Order: sequence, then C-alpha cells, then structure tokens
Amino acid sequence: MRAGEGALVLYSGGQDSATCLAWALSRYERVETIGFDYGQRHRVELECRADLVAGLRSAFPDWSRRLGDDHMVRLDAIAQLGQTALTQDIAFRMAEDGLPNTFVPGRNIIFLSFAAAAYRRGLRRIVAGVCETDYSGYPDCRDDTIKAMQVALNLGLDRRFVLETPLMWRDKAQTWELARELGGDALVELIRMRSHSCYAGERAHEHAWGFGCGACPACALRASGWETWRAGA
Ligand SMILES: [Zn+2]
Repeated sequence: MRAGEGALVLYSGGQDSATCLAWALSRYERVETIGFDYGQRHRVELECRADLVAGLRSAFPDWSRRLGDDHMVRLDAIAQLGQTALTQDIAFRMAEDGLPNTFVPGRNIIFLSFAAAAYRRGLRRIVAGVCETDYSGYPDCRDDTIKAMQVALNLGLDRRFVLETPLMWRDKAQTWELARELGGDALVELIRMRSHSCYAGERAHEHAWGFGCGACPACALRASGWETWRAGA
C-alpha cells in the first residue's frame, strides 16, 4: 500500500478494466473511476459498471473504503466521427487499413487526455487496462502509445502523471490469474458474472467464462483466455 497515493482508473465495466480496478484498490489509498459514454451501440457495458462496483463494495470492505467517486464523461463526438462497429449497426470486419472495424480511432488517446484533465483531484496515477499481448490489433493499446501519451500529458499539463498498465504484458489467461491473486475466487466470480466484454451486447446466455454471444471477437478472446487459464489453474 502506497501511503497517500491516489489513482484514477479507466473503468468500462469489461474484464480488463475491472481487473485493473481491483489492482488499483489493492495498491492505492484512494481510487476513483472514470468511464466514457461515447455512444456505444450497446448500453449493457455501462450498466454492468455499477453492478460490478456494488459487488466489489460488498465483497471487499477494505477496497470499498478506498473507492471514491465515479465520473461518467460524455463523448458523443466519437460516435459522430468514428464509423465503427461499436457505435454503428454494421457487421464486424477488417477495414481497408488492416484494422478491425471495432477499432474506435484513437479512443485510448482521447480517454487518457480526459482522465489527465482531472489532475486537480490529486490523482497522480492513471490506470488503464490496455494490453499489447493478447489484443485486438488496436494500435492505441500498444506500450509505445501509452509511453508517448505519458510524455505528452506531462509536458502539456506540466505534471508528473504515471500511466499504469498492469495488463500490458499479460494475455487473457494471465488476466484471470491476476484477478485470483488480487481477490481470490470471489473476485474471479464477480468479474465472470458481472463484467461485460461482448461486442453484441448479449447477456442472455451464460457460459463458463461469463455472459456473451459467444461468437464475436471479444467473446472469442474472453472464452479462449478463460479456457487456457482453467486448463492451467
Ligand atoms: Zn459476443
């Protein structure tokens, strides 16, 4: 535990950001969350955010004491400009530029800029669940992008932010293992049942790895990570 340290966690309600929230709560005395409503086609991920936090609060009282405000930021412009399968009713496919059309251009760059704008809240550490190991080919999840953002934000705001990415070099199986290290089976079960990854917004069908359509790229990644982790666990 780092005395006096505060962190702001980019928290979407997905598996990765939920694990990052637990990671921050296990380390820092004061933790706040920030989420972005950028016109996602499916509102379910945003609804899962609060449900998961309520579960964390009741299962982990020490963490509950450290967990402060949640900030929801509206960023409608992303959907306006984006042309992406996450904000429009279009099929998942690879776009002409070689990136999947679920890529919301520069989303993490925009999110980190807004997170840094909260610097007057005294939260020096910004935690993001981006990952280069087992990712969907999104260039703004890469370690170099995040390191460049840290430099840009520190210069542009004349601060000393630390951008923390605990999942950067973990695959999805290792992310499940991290959840177990942080909060045991109770945390794994909370994330399994209450976090949401599915691009199709499906929560009617329960699988071993949680709820989802079972067919979209996000479900496929989550399912294979779970199976790999269970096979080795
Ligand atoms: Zn799905």
